Amino acid sequence: MSFERRSLETLALLHRIVLTHAPVALASSFGAEDMVLTDLIARNALPVDVFTLDTGRLPGETYALMERVREHYGLPIEVYYPDGRALEAYVRDHGINAFYRSTVLRRRCCAIRKTEPLSRALAGRRAWITGLRRAQGVTRQDIDLEEHDPVHGLPKFNPLVEWSDADVWGYIRARRVPYNPLHDRGYPSIGCAPCTRAVEPGEDIRAGRWWWESAEHKECGLHRRPLDVAVRVEHTELRP
Ligand code: SF4
Repeated sequence: MSFERRSLETLALLHRIVLTHAPVALASSFGAEDMVLTDLIARNALPVDVFTLDTGRLPGETYALMERVREHYGLPIEVYYPDGRALEAYVRDHGINAFYRSTVLRRRCCAIRKTEPLSRALAGRRAWITGLRRAQGVTRQDIDLEEHDPVHGLPKFNPLVEWSDADVWGYIRARRVPYNPLHDRGYPSIGCAPCTRAVEPGEDIRAGRWWWESAEHKECGLHRRPLDVAVRVEHTELRP
């Protein structure tokens, strides 16, 4: 399927989500997939809030892109930060780079810098949207278009679930969508600077995330699988 056809189908799906689940928000980390969704939302003036979680450890390129997105699209980006006291206590007790020492400490850092702010970002929403794709690696091969997020008690939509790498980059290049220049330097997946590195050609897309851990641990808690109750919905159910 061409990316143009995928784009039209995804736009129809976004319209349907807005109609049935407002208020709804896109969780963006300014990765390539998030930029495709942001472009679709902005071009079509869809009433979808865009938020991001500023962990305080993001690469400079991501902060620069955040500003570029604001200017390019005129979109207000909601930015959520970690709880200052929890972060201060963690750094006091374990040090600034404790995530390298154990998976437990790494997950605690992600919980403070990402998971707790996500809960605040989702408060008052009736659904959230992500750029997750099945092709993004071993931890994401069983995701569905619509899932139930039991932590926040919300439907979670992954409209790009079936998009390939070629679909994403075809869209970005054809529509001249701004993107993170780290993608051109071997970073298919971009998170916090100390926990992300470039991958070799042919490596798993998420091989550069928490590279010191085994593959099944490579989630930060925002999208940990399996969700307790996955709701499988045929795509046709969501199309007009
Ligand atoms: S990705 Fe690394 S720095 Fe970022 S929140 Fe998780 S452990 Fe902390």
